[in-house]
Amino acid sequence: MKIKAAVLEGIGSQFEVSELDLDSPKAGEVLVKIAASGLCASDLNAIDGKRKLVPFPAVIGHEAAGVVIEVGPGVTSPKVGDHVILSIVPNCGTCDYCKSGRPNYCSTAGDAMGVGGMFDGTSRLSRNGEKINQFLTVASFAEYSVVPVSGCVVIPKEMPLDRAALISCAVLTGYGAVANTAKVEAGSRVSVFGCGGVGLNIIQGARMKGAKRIIAVDVTEEKLQLAKKVGATDLVNASKVDPVAAIKELTGGVDYAFEALGREETIAQAWLTVDVGGQLTLVGLLKNGAKLTIDAGPFVNEQSIKGCYFGSSDLQRDVPLLVQAYLSGELLLDELITSRIGLDGLNESFQKLRSGEGARSVLVFD
Ligand SMILES: [Zn+2]
Ligand SMILES: [Zn+2]
Repeated sequence: MKIKAAVLEGIGSQFEVSELDLDSPKAGEVLVKIAASGLCASDLNAIDGKRKLVPFPAVIGHEAAGVVIEVGPGVTSPKVGDHVILSIVPNCGTCDYCKSGRPNYCSTAGDAMGVGGMFDGTSRLSRNGEKINQFLTVASFAEYSVVPVSGCVVIPKEMPLDRAALISCAVLTGYGAVANTAKVEAGSRVSVFGCGGVGLNIIQGARMKGAKRIIAVDVTEEKLQLAKKVGATDLVNASKVDPVAAIKELTGGVDYAFEALGREETIAQAWLTVDVGGQLTLVGLLKNGAKLTIDAGPFVNEQSIKGCYFGSSDLQRDVPLLVQAYLSGELLLDELITSRIGLDGLNESFQKLRSGEGARSVLVFD
C-alpha cells in the first residue's frame, strides 16, 4: 500500500514528507494505522547522531499508539480493530535473553533494529524499490506501520490514543525506573535531574509510590511548574542555584536520585545528592563512547549507581496497570502534552525539543 511518512535521509538532515510503499505484514507481524506518536529524546538522538540507532534513510518515531488494520499469518492476538500501543522492546521468545527472563534485551530484536528491519532483517518500507529502514521496529512517523506482534499491547478503547502513545515510552521508562529498577519505597526522599518527558514520569512514579519528598531539578521554569503539577514537592532551578547544595539543604540528601538527561555533568551532580545507603539510577541515555567521572567518596557510605533500560518494564504487566492509573486519574498525561502536530511540524518541534522547550509534542493523525 502507499502511505505518507516523514523520511530522514541521514544524521542531521530534515524530515521530508514522502509517499512510500508499505508491504503487508508477514508471519508474526501486524499492520497498524498510527493514531499518535510522541517526539522522544531517543528520536532526537538518532537525528543528531548522538547514538547510532538505525541505518539511513529511515522512518523514525517509536512512542506510538494506533489501531490494528491487518494481521499477518499465524497472529491470533491482537485482532483487527484492536487499539494497541507499540513498543521498542518486542521479543522473539526463543533467544538466550528471552529464555533467561530478560526479553527487553532480546537479541533477535536487537539485530533487527541494527539493520532497520523486522525480525527477518528485511524492512516492509520502500521508496521506488529502494529500502527505507524502520526505526526500532516501530517507525511511527508515518500513517501506517508494520510491527512485530510482540511489540503490540492491546489497550481498552476508552483510553485516548494520543495519551496512550506517551505510555509506550516516556511513561514506561520513567514510572518503571521508579517502580521496577530502583524500587522506590513509600516515605523515601527522591531527587530527579531533568524534567522532560521521562523525568516528569519519574516524578509521578515517585508520587504514585508514596515518596514523601520529590525534588525536581531543571533549568527551565516551565518544566519545573509541570513537575509540580505531576507531584514534585520541591523545585530547584539549576540555572540559578547549585542543585547539590540546594538539595542537601532541603533534605540532607536523598534515598533515590534519578538522572534523566544522559549528561555527564548532571550525573556527577545527582550522585552527590544521594545520602548514606542511597542509590542513583541512570535513566537518561549517554552518547556512544561517553565516560563518567564521579566522586568516589560516597561508595564508603554504601551508595550505589544502577543502570536502567526502558524502566525494566514488563509490557504485558505494566501497560494495563498504567492505562488503569490514567483512567482512574492517578497518572497524569493530559498535562504532559504541550503540543499536537502533523507530519509537516516535525522539524520545528524537534528543534524545540533540542532547545529544551515544552514537555511533549505529539504527532497526531486524524
Ligand atoms: Zn522514547
Ligand atoms: Zn529474543
